[in-house]
Parts: sequence; C-alpha cells; structure tokens
Amino acid sequence: MNAKQLSKRLTRVADFVPQDAVVADIGSDHAYLPCYLLHKGIAARGVAGEVVKGPFESAKRQVREEGLSDRIAVRLASGLKAIEAEDGVTVVTIAGMGGSLIRSILETDMDKLAGVERLVLQPNVHAQTLRDWALLNGWHVTAEDILEENNKIYEILVFERRGGKGELTDAERLLGPYLLAECSPVFVSKWRHEIKQWKRILASLEGLPETEEMLMKKQEFTRNIELAEGVLGSEDSEWE
Ligand code: SAM
Repeated sequence: MNAKQLSKRLTRVADFVPQDAVVADIGSDHAYLPCYLLHKGIAARGVAGEVVKGPFESAKRQVREEGLSDRIAVRLASGLKAIEAEDGVTVVTIAGMGGSLIRSILETDMDKLAGVERLVLQPNVHAQTLRDWALLNGWHVTAEDILEENNKIYEILVFERRGGKGELTDAERLLGPYLLAECSPVFVSKWRHEIKQWKRILASLEGLPETEEMLMKKQEFTRNIELAEGVLGSEDSEWE
C-alpha cells in the first residue's frame, strides 16, 4: 500500500469522500488516505491528524515526499483537536480503530464538527456504538459498506446531518440499516460467525455463579442472537 495504491479497505473509505471535499483524516498514520484523495483530485485540501510521534513523523515525511505539504496540514494532536476553524473541513474520516475509540474521539471535541457535512468511519469492531452516537447527536446514517480483505471483515459507516436514516430499529442499530437490507454474502458470513461466538460464550457460562456483569452480558448476547437470527434465520448446527 502507498499513497497512490491504497488497500481495498481504505479505497472504499475514499469512495465515500465527495468531490472537492476538505478532508480531515484522524489517526492518519502514513497519511496515505489524504494523499490519495488529493492525487485523485477528489479532495481540495486536507488535514492529517496523528496523536503518536512516530506515525506523525511518517505522515509528515509522506506528505513532503508526495509534494503535498502546501495542501495537507499534518498535525500532532489528539482526535479532532487536529482540526482548526480556518481549515474549513467538510469531511472527517476515521479508519482502522475500534468503534469505542472512534466514538470517544467524536464525543471529546464535538464543537470541531460544526462545519463538517459528512463523517466516513471505518470501525474495526463495535460499529453499533457509532450508530448509537449518531442517533443521539443529530447525525443520520446515509450509507454503509462491508468488505473482506485479508480474511478480515470491515464495515464503513457514513453519517450526514440529514437524509438517510435518522431512526433505527434495534436490528438496524446492531447490523446496519443498509447492510441489513443488502444482506450481502460478506454480511451473512460476518454475522453467522458472530452468532457462533455468542452461542459459544453463552454455553461456556452455563452453570457458573452469576455476577451482575455476567448477567448483563448474557442478556446482551441473547438479544443480539435474536436480532441477527431474525434477519439471517437460525442454523441448528450453531448450537453444536
Ligand atoms: N487510519 C489508518 C488506517 O486506517 O490505515 C491508520 C490506522 S492505525 C491502526 C490507527 C492510528 O490512529 C494510529 O496511528 C494511532 O496512533 C492513531 N490514533 C489513535 N488514537 C488517536 C487519537 N485519539 N487521535 C489521533 N490519532 C489517534
């Protein structure tokens, strides 16, 4: 992977960045994504934010080597603090982290999202917590994607302030409203696997003394199985 040839995962993230966006990529590592967006003529300008010194230096070097230092500001900062009002950022991308970390990045500096029109998020796990955050904070889910690369499955969520889905059912919160409707083979494979995992954990907890925390986990997994099987149907062999 480099700034001209992204991974399939980051290419799909880039596909959701609209023409002429001013993009802030948070947790940018090598700054491949903003460099790619500028080389492709999709983004007009960009910000690459990184909180760790090593990746920040790599991002700076990359942007310099790509000849983009005048159009991409590389900043050592935590989360959305990398964005300054004068940047005029219209799209924020956050990819390759857990859903809870992405949520905490969004929650910590919500004021920085004032002029932002679109969020393109790629959580490695726990996408539901981001859909919940969106619904609580006036963002709508306007698109989703799911893909497999190197035996890993990734979800991409796009939030905007209007359009799309501003209310979700429990199944849509867990599985994703657009992904659920599309029900692609990758989606089915992901949730069949999750169902197996939840059932395995529930079986391993059987007979153990119940703490309050364990009881809550059991309820959550049981409910998730119900929701996922409500969409996919149940497979008896999963109980084996
Ligand atoms: N976004 C790239 C991608 O998807 O390939 C890099 C993903 S890498 C696994 C996650 C990056 O996010 C790391 O470079 C890490 O230092 C950075 N990071 C983690 N927490 C951060 C935060 N609060 N603010 C900015 N960067 C953060």
